[in-house]
Amino acid sequence: MPTMQAPMPTTQAPNPLGLGRCQRCGNMRQTARVSFHRNVGMLFIRRTYKIEGNLCKSCVRRHFAEFTVKNLLLGWWGTLSLIVTPLYAVQNVASYIAAMRELRGAPE
Ligand SMILES: [Zn+2]
Repeated sequence: MPTMQAPMPTTQAPNPLGLGRCQRCGNMRQTARVSFHRNVGMLFIRRTYKIEGNLCKSCVRRHFAEFTVKNLLLGWWGTLSLIVTPLYAVQNVASYIAAMRELRGAPE
């Protein structure tokens, strides 16, 4: 099964203020580490997409929404996909909640 990974710049250590560079939009903002997965089932094959990195609050929200919608729309169409899709959905929610807890109080 091929894994497509979104290209990301190299990781940068956060500075003493707790600000880091968001790896999606590139702004210096408070970030949290997230990883989201989604599945696309195509009966006998399936494809997995993954995003992982230190993202700012608005990028976490945007990518969580995108990965959740696409996973739930396109994920189910296959035997293994029936198992993988709900697991990814639960993992994504857990990663999202953890990130939002970390970014509580951070500006959008
Ligand atoms: Zn961002």
